[in-house]
Amino acid sequence: MAEVQGSKPSTGLRSSLNERGQRLTPQRQRVLALFEQIGEGRHLSAEDVHGLLAHGEERVSLATVYRSLRLLSSLGLLQELELPEGGRRFELASDAHPHHHHLVCVQCGRTEEFESAAVLAAGEQAATTLGFLLLECVLNVRSLCPQCRGARAG
Ligand SMILES: [Zn+2]
Ligand SMILES: [Zn+2]
Repeated sequence: MAEVQGSKPSTGLRSSLNERGQRLTPQRQRVLALFEQIGEGRHLSAEDVHGLLAHGEERVSLATVYRSLRLLSSLGLLQELELPEGGRRFELASDAHPHHHHLVCVQCGRTEEFESAAVLAAGEQAATTLGFLLLECVLNVRSLCPQCRGARAG
């Protein structure tokens, strides 16, 4: 379960949403507000979001959370991260925080970010060589976190 901690809120998202003429239901606004509150670089599952919203005054069903996450992703407000073992995580989309990679524990889903100029360079080089236009270069690494690794060994 992710805990909420103070972080710089980004205020540009909802205004860009208004510019595109999109309107969000109160539930979707709450989901988006939650991600803005916890800040960039945090990866939440639908269950995490549902659990965090359960403390609010108004109940939101898990199905509504799923729908909201999908919609916010399709609007480009959230970035969806598909985990190798079938799970999904969502994080705040941000221009200031692009092209980062993920170490994903296949056992517990713990997700850590890293940056790598080498990965970017390899993606760019491959794209250029084959005449592709690079849009996004993201590497998701299947792995076992120290905790799960220890459990497996012992
Ligand atoms: Zn990330
Ligand atoms: Zn793990």
